[in-house]
Amino acid sequence: MNQFQYTRPVDAATAIKSTAKDPAASFLAGGTNLVDLMKMGVVMPEKLVDINLLPFRKIEPVGDGLRIGALATNTAVAMDPLVQKKFPLLPLAINAGASAQLRNVATVGGNMMQRTRCPYFFDTLMPCNKRKPGSGCGALQGYNRMHAIFGASENCIAVNPSDMNVALAALDALVHISGTKGARTIKFADFHRLPGDHPELDNNLQRGELITAIELKASPFTKNIAYLKVRDRSSYAFALVSAAVALHMEGKTITSAAIAMGGVAHKPWRLQSVEMFLKGKTAGEDVFKRAASIAMEGAKAFEYNKFKLKLAPNTLIQALKTAAGMAS
Ligand code: SF4
Repeated sequence: MNQFQYTRPVDAATAIKSTAKDPAASFLAGGTNLVDLMKMGVVMPEKLVDINLLPFRKIEPVGDGLRIGALATNTAVAMDPLVQKKFPLLPLAINAGASAQLRNVATVGGNMMQRTRCPYFFDTLMPCNKRKPGSGCGALQGYNRMHAIFGASENCIAVNPSDMNVALAALDALVHISGTKGARTIKFADFHRLPGDHPELDNNLQRGELITAIELKASPFTKNIAYLKVRDRSSYAFALVSAAVALHMEGKTITSAAIAMGGVAHKPWRLQSVEMFLKGKTAGEDVFKRAASIAMEGAKAFEYNKFKLKLAPNTLIQALKTAAGMAS
């Protein structure tokens, strides 16, 4: 590990100022991803700005919705009674990720910022445009079993590894951000990026900007929900494919839907065309099969992840059935 400076400011303005003009500086929250990357030489920040003393841990009501501080741990969010009551999809997704020990330390903001688990990104001897722009993409012609089937570019085919992000995308979360130019709020859907020509950028944060909170507006999705994660072992593994499904139903009629998939793209993959298709439909096997085929429009696999072209629609169908109370 390289040597680095360490500071622990007690206010956000100082933390932001410490990183705003310093490309070698990095915020440190739970450290469950960043410290691993530092140990492996994948990232080498020269300054760590530890933000754990900042007042961003509260989970509190805002109108009929909730504001979740960026430093709330994954466990605190998943265990919170208001989150469980108003947004039960979120605990389902969070508890599918990592391990209990990691969730006790990992924060909401850190989870949003976690880097891809593409093995070529972690292997500093291999080309990787995300780690070293312009060096090439080792996965493109390599062992790309875990990689994207939507939204990839010739520069990067990695996927976002987070489960929490999939639920937040489906729930239309808002992201509150502070920076040297003041505060701003963006839609969760606009936070993460597709790789395009700049796979080194995972998200649209500007240098020095800090996530302060997530906001969830009142949602009708409190009952018919499912988070289905398919992975190589039953715990402590990243998703091959996952599906977050929330339905609002009157009897068997779906009045509205919120759906996103994980393990398939560089960002949580929202399925608005599927949501529109499902609106007003009667829940049933044929409807869900048609929904899954709409979801797969535009999918493109690489040599070793062709299985995802079947796994993804099957995962979505099963999640839809579970959410609708039809799973056997
Ligand atoms: Fe790097 Fe992306 Fe290619 Fe993986 S897929 S090697 S992260 S550029």
